[in-house]
Amino acid sequence: MKRPTILVLGAGYGGLATVVNLQKSIGTDEADIVLINKNDYHYESTWLHEAAAGTLSPEQVRYDIKHVISQDKVKFVKAEVQAIDVKGKVVTTDVGTHAYDYLVIALGFEGETFGITGLDKYALSIANVKAARQIREHIEYQFATWSLEDEKDDSRLTIVVGGAGFTGIEFLGELANRVPELCKEFDVPREKVRVICVEAAPMVLPGFDPELVDYAVRQLKSKGIEFSIGTPVVEATPEGVKIKKGEEEFEFIKAGTVVWAAGVRGNRLIEETGIENMRARVKVEKDLRAPGFDDVFIVGDCALMINEETNRPYPPTAQIAMQQGDMCANNLVALIKGQSTSEFVPDLKGSIASLGDDDAIGVAFGKKMTGKKASFMKKMVDNRALFLIGGLGLTLKKGKFNLL
Ligand code: FAD
Ligand code: NAD
Repeated sequence: MKRPTILVLGAGYGGLATVVNLQKSIGTDEADIVLINKNDYHYESTWLHEAAAGTLSPEQVRYDIKHVISQDKVKFVKAEVQAIDVKGKVVTTDVGTHAYDYLVIALGFEGETFGITGLDKYALSIANVKAARQIREHIEYQFATWSLEDEKDDSRLTIVVGGAGFTGIEFLGELANRVPELCKEFDVPREKVRVICVEAAPMVLPGFDPELVDYAVRQLKSKGIEFSIGTPVVEATPEGVKIKKGEEEFEFIKAGTVVWAAGVRGNRLIEETGIENMRARVKVEKDLRAPGFDDVFIVGDCALMINEETNRPYPPTAQIAMQQGDMCANNLVALIKGQSTSEFVPDLKGSIASLGDDDAIGVAFGKKMTGKKASFMKKMVDNRALFLIGGLGLTLKKGKFNLL
């Protein structure tokens, strides 16, 4: 009998966890495993705010995919997926087509702009490693240009961050530490620089523990970060953003840099598959398969699962993407061996948001924590993700060991 082909799209947390688990649990005589990703490297999406602020080099955030896959078991193809035909069971890429028997879609997230005018064109987004590098270089360019100008335009030194969710807050934490370095490097007086976070909801980190949120806001304000809360961004222009302050009241913030961190959606390729989805996220079956397509699994940020305790979707996180990758691999092995699949139940260990390299807030194993303790815990979580995918070697090479 012909060996089935398992095609995995995307080498983020979900895709790599699937492949790494599959290569351990299935023989080359049982299935052909093909992994497609648009780059020949994986990047730690959870560290992108650091690369964007310039507190970590883009190089440190990524690693070669071939270092973590067994090349005798997995065929890696560097290609950009362009279309997924789930009826014809074929995937089209910029370098050719791939037929499959089983498909795993793990194509990750994109920034959500909610159709707000000008954001797509004039705001930057912490979407991937190249976009993060662009943000870093854009901010440096603004500082360098200001220092050269005869008639100085101080708005070059204003950075607006749209959204005070986890991404926005973590990016602000890095910026708070980076701005003094930039001021020194480009001879800019610190008081000329404004970093303003604009949040639509009435609080920072909506839904998170209020005591921890207070701590984060206090810490960030003490480092000069400003907040405009309950004031949604309604438009972006080449000069900055317009925010809504009341029924008929608007303010324009002139800014040289606008970073949009106000939410994510799934990969838009999902919307063209014909599979029912919401903002490119598919409400998957309990065993992670797409409804109506028994040979298609969806993991990570393209998958949507409802938490039955809260009746709300689980947030799209790396933590869940990796656990889904493991379960997806187990279920693929089960199907190939003619066994039944298992249900995915997330094992949530908590959430920690960094506030720069030296501070954080979070809840882990039911305990609230702040400061260095939380920061230590965050780095442990980051190291654990490396360890689970690439073992000790990768952890030692890319891990965070500035622990105190
Ligand atoms: P991704 O990690 O986005 O990977 C998708 C992969 O698919 C990428 O390699 C991409 O290059 C590839 N790809 C995309 N399109 C194509 C295409 N057309 N063709 C080929 N390849 C393609 N979660 C946590 O749990 N903890 C955290 O601390 C945390 N911090 C975060 C910090 C930031 C700044 C951000 C932005 C997110 C953070 N998250 C965190 C969320 C987490 O990063 C995502 O939930 C996670 O990356 C989702 O994993 P994934 O495998 O679905 O997709
Ligand atoms: P999010 O949806 O969690 O937060 C987006 C924020 O933007 C919200 O507070 C929302 O009210 C605000 N917003 C929306 N529209 C706006 C507007 N027009 N103007 C101003 N503000 C607006 O999105 P995120 O922060 O990008 O996070 C995405 C996912 O990644 C989440 O699941 C999050 O938990 C996860 N994540 C986790 C971590 C961590 O665990 N450390 C870090 C980053 C991201």
